Amino acid sequence: DSSDDDSEEYLFKIVIIGDSAVGKSNLLSRYARDEFNLHSKATIGVEFQTQVVEINGKEVKAQIWDTAGQERFRAVTSAYYRGAFGALLVYDISRRSTFESVTRWLDELHTHCDTTVAKMLIGNKCDLDNIRDVSTEEGAKLAEDEGLFFMETSALDSTNVNKAFEIVIREIYSNVS
Ligand code: GDP
Ligand code: MG
Repeated sequence: DSSDDDSEEYLFKIVIIGDSAVGKSNLLSRYARDEFNLHSKATIGVEFQTQVVEINGKEVKAQIWDTAGQERFRAVTSAYYRGAFGALLVYDISRRSTFESVTRWLDELHTHCDTTVAKMLIGNKCDLDNIRDVSTEEGAKLAEDEGLFFMETSALDSTNVNKAFEIVIREIYSNVS
């Protein structure tokens, strides 16, 4: 066993949840590979992507999980949530029903994970402001009521994508260190 702090290893599992087609897979591909796919198919998806970030001179591995489409069948398994330190709860600002689903996703998260899991509410597709169906204030209010971080993002034009992941990773780091 080593007392050398620099050799410490951090591996944080983060899950992305939310209704189908809100942009979960594209948020991950934008963050991990700087890629966006206009016609991404729900069935195509990797289990997770690992992103290495440096915090306070320490190497932190964020293992970010994508549902690969199971959410369409309401069949996100407990294995998906197991061991998660952080979660991104995503809705689509142009589709109100996806915002109304957020509390259900939050309930599901809480049945599988510790309450200390770092949570960020994400209103994605903020580039679609012209057909907006959920105001920024409503998103912020829900986040405040539920104790979540909040950010509006666009996987299409990259707005706030890195920032959202980074805030969650930093929050986890400060929870565990
Ligand atoms: P998932 O089912 O939640 O994984 O959603 P996807 O990432 O597969 O995205 C569903 C659809 O929304 C695709 O056609 C994407 O191109 C589109 N999409 C994803 N993110 C954005 C975004 O930020 N803005 C816009 N305009 N479209 C997006
Ligand atoms: Mg997907």
